Amino acid sequence: MQMRKFKVKMQRIHEVFISHMHGDHYLGLMGFISSMHLLGRKSRLTVYGPPELKEILEMQLKASQTFLEYPLEIVAWSPEAKECIYEDKSLRVWSFPLKHRIDCCGFIFEEKQRKPKITKTSIAQYDLLPSQIIQLKNGNSVVLNNGETLAPEKVCEEPEPAKSYAYCSDTAYSEKVIGAVTGCTTIYHESTFLESEAERAKSTFHSTAKQAAMVAKQAGVKRLLLGHFSSRYANDDDFKKEAESIFKTVSLANEGTVFTVH
Ligand SMILES: [Zn+2]
Repeated sequence: MQMRKFKVKMQRIHEVFISHMHGDHYLGLMGFISSMHLLGRKSRLTVYGPPELKEILEMQLKASQTFLEYPLEIVAWSPEAKECIYEDKSLRVWSFPLKHRIDCCGFIFEEKQRKPKITKTSIAQYDLLPSQIIQLKNGNSVVLNNGETLAPEKVCEEPEPAKSYAYCSDTAYSEKVIGAVTGCTTIYHESTFLESEAERAKSTFHSTAKQAAMVAKQAGVKRLLLGHFSSRYANDDDFKKEAESIFKTVSLANEGTVFTVH
């Protein structure tokens, strides 16, 4: 329903990443799987989640006698260690353990470093062949028709540095999480509570806004997104203020907001 409300193109989704088995994190999944079936989906859908997820989904499909018209793959991540669970030509996805009351994983979406670019003007100027362009992009010199050697530095433009986004929900404050997300450029970190409820955060394996900011600061990220606020607080801006006392670039990840990963 939320995807429809925010006009997310559901048929373009081929991978779903589930962090843990608390209801607010996965109960919508069966509705999504069924809706895709009713809408005539034919293309594959892969769901990555805790080992228990496969049995639960298969039981629900069996009980409702739903025979999906599209291939549904259910892949279990390991609750023990960081691992690469998805890879394509431009992206890798890693799962890594969070610190929660039940097994819970965060995910890192890591863009692969792009190759240097060579402008059309340079290609025309040196009359470069496709094979020479590949050589130059790989950092090798090439010999031109006139016998001159062309070094890659002369024509290659450095690409933008690779970006990465870490999703950390739900979790208590954890040094291990800092280690796992160090090097990411943007992180989402849950902040269910404010520091005034630090004890409650600890006993329920959640974090405060201040703790989320400490993770962002120590991991050296560029930007922190906060979410998963407890409904006991009237004003979400208090989370932003508390986090900003530790870390500068903070945004509230309210539903429907779109962020560019820096
Ligand atoms: Zn939870």
